[in-house]
Amino acid sequence: MVSLSMEIELTKTKKQKPAPNELGFGKYYTDHMFMMDYDNPEEGWHNPRIIPYQPISLDPAAKVFHYGQTVFEGMKAYRTSDERILLFRPQKNFKRLNLSNDRIDIPQIDEEFALEALKQLIQIDQDWIPTEKGTSLYIRPFIIATEASLGASTSTSYQFIIILSPVGSYYPEGIKPVRIYVESEYVRAVKGGTGMAKTAGNYASGLKAHSGVAGSGFAQVLWLDGIERKYIEEVGSMNVFFKINGKVVTPALTGSILDGVTRNSILQLLKHWNIPTEERLISIDELYEAYTNGTLEESFGTGTAAVISPIGELQWQDKKMIINEGNTGELSARLYNALTGIQNGEQEDVLDWMVEVK
Ligand SMILES: *Cc1c(COP(=O)(O)O)cnc(C)c1O
Repeated sequence: MVSLSMEIELTKTKKQKPAPNELGFGKYYTDHMFMMDYDNPEEGWHNPRIIPYQPISLDPAAKVFHYGQTVFEGMKAYRTSDERILLFRPQKNFKRLNLSNDRIDIPQIDEEFALEALKQLIQIDQDWIPTEKGTSLYIRPFIIATEASLGASTSTSYQFIIILSPVGSYYPEGIKPVRIYVESEYVRAVKGGTGMAKTAGNYASGLKAHSGVAGSGFAQVLWLDGIERKYIEEVGSMNVFFKINGKVVTPALTGSILDGVTRNSILQLLKHWNIPTEERLISIDELYEAYTNGTLEESFGTGTAAVISPIGELQWQDKKMIINEGNTGELSARLYNALTGIQNGEQEDVLDWMVEVK
């Protein structure tokens, strides 16, 4: 049992847990949350506590509302069939939170402390971790600027919060390829901007492009680079991979792309399997050429929520690319089974990724 010196206030009224088939994504929250405050440099981060899940009260002038000074993370905990609780590479998420903090001018957190606090929170709410196949406990750490001031400058106070949400299977009817629209007008991020940080503004700027095509049956947009609108960056909020002529290619991390933990894990697994990989610039013209000459074999997005999301169709201007006849590719399925198998404890943790909560 992890034990940190922090205040713990347990709830007197436990909420009713939803049925596994009603979970969906990010609809339900557990009984408790973690919170910690930051005030001007002298006090630093202080007052870590676990309290009943509840609304927070902020001054309407809090900077997060006006200038978007906020960062977040997303990761998952799993319950294994032998009743262990496993986290998938959580150190990488807290490290990335600090990279995002740095870019958005938010003070650094103690990564080891944050992980111990998270473990303690999960232990308290462990009855909320669903056990059905494909389900998990989604973890959302985030930091908000709370200083009540309309001055457009760095906040002097913050709150660091962790909430937990039991989530259902992303593929209740089996893994299924999606249709993606290649966005040629709007861009998500530019080099030197905030694309490599997990911050709210990146999502806000992407909503309109997504809404514009969602009605036509596209699950997401594929973002091109912000300068030439030529090089492939990401799909929606996932990293993207293409299997071309036996090699697995993914855009290099050039500063405008989010360094996904799933992306990194897929690259490691492929190397472990001796499948050739390439991290490099890949233009939409090169992709279309591979499609027309028959060497574009598979494509998929990667992220914590879906793990692997096969891409069955890409619409680029008036050109349509149907990939692998619109079916889930062999490699996509193999990667999905391997990664989810390691995560839920059914397969050997060959790359030493899982961290047990105990
Ligand atoms: C979170 C995120 C990803 C995926 O990262 P994971 O660590 O694999 O979940 C990819 N792109 C964007 C823009 C993201 O915000």
